[in-house]
Amino acid sequence: MNIYDPVHIAQALIRCPSITPFEGGALTFLEEVLKQHKFDVNRITFGEQGTQKVENLYARFGNHGPNLCFAGHTDVVPPGNEQNWSYPPFAAEINNGYLYGRGAADMKGGIACFIAAAARTLNAKGKLPGSISLLITGDEEGPAINGTAKMLDWLHSHEESLDGCIVGEPTCANHLGDTVKIGRRGSLTAYLTVLGAQGHVAYPQYADNPIPKLMRIADRIANIELDTGNDSFEPSNLEITVISTSNKVSNVIPSEAEMTFNVRYNNNWSRNSIENCLADLCHKESEEIGANINLTFSSTAEAFLTKPGSLVNATKDAVKQVTGCVPELSTSGGTSDARFIQACCPVVEFGHINKTIHQIDERVAINDIYRLTSVYEHIINLYFGNKLRLNVY
Ligand SMILES: [Zn+2]
Repeated sequence: MNIYDPVHIAQALIRCPSITPFEGGALTFLEEVLKQHKFDVNRITFGEQGTQKVENLYARFGNHGPNLCFAGHTDVVPPGNEQNWSYPPFAAEINNGYLYGRGAADMKGGIACFIAAAARTLNAKGKLPGSISLLITGDEEGPAINGTAKMLDWLHSHEESLDGCIVGEPTCANHLGDTVKIGRRGSLTAYLTVLGAQGHVAYPQYADNPIPKLMRIADRIANIELDTGNDSFEPSNLEITVISTSNKVSNVIPSEAEMTFNVRYNNNWSRNSIENCLADLCHKESEEIGANINLTFSSTAEAFLTKPGSLVNATKDAVKQVTGCVPELSTSGGTSDARFIQACCPVVEFGHINKTIHQIDERVAINDIYRLTSVYEHIINLYFGNKLRLNVY
């Protein structure tokens, strides 16, 4: 295998069936390749009660700062019905200019590109005015408990610091280079229960039906304008996702009605301010209609925005130089592990086209694998301010 060729690396990775949370040989393969490129490699396994153990990897070349880190995951979602794939999902077949396989775009293809880019840079230069590292988890597609969050604590306790981080998630929509992510919205989920009194539908005077009250509150919150967005973010958005009662019959008024809603909020809000706003609204509305409610919240991510600086500029310029595209600096989409890393250092996300991720026949263009490698190579060199002669594919 050519350990400088991103297509070879991507194929070897796809052939490891690392369905979350299983390692599937993917981190063992990365360890071997990175050691061949003279990286110091650490394999760290985390677990806690109620979760499955997950393996992670941190590798570093160089021992002084700045430390430019690439973050990603080798775990993949299940392939679904393998009969529906044009090629077996872990065979890494190439046909008609595309590499097929689970993880080709999300995100073994991105990891392969970064390793090839780092290897080529180090091969050309010998050393860097800083360090390059990789932070690879096996717990991104799963509950994300034994992955990046714990790895960051591990780095901290081992006096490892990151100065900038590229997350290689597939960020592009239609063609390579169209989108760089520089932030993400936060996510807050609310669980609201209206408490009533159970009874016979024919004797409503002895019961208290919680459903109309819940509908009133639902109607109120579904139509709220939380904000109008800002230069970097779309308006915050609230969606009701569940309305239910445990009642399955037609002649009983249920005692409780439940609703779940989720808010994707921008950086006009903190987790506390958005929670307080929604709690006030729900309590005020329920007081007006005489509803007795229980309300709890859970949050998986705070909103963040990476400010303009050397990392954002290097990424934007590298994408422009290689692809000819001026990328949109976006904050859209769901959350990613960048939500943890942003607390440590500036973070940007850039990777393959995300059209086929988690689908049957997930695939990535061979040409894009070489071009993404070139983008990463440019980012490394621009970030470190080198004047290396760059190979553009
Ligand atoms: Zn991913």
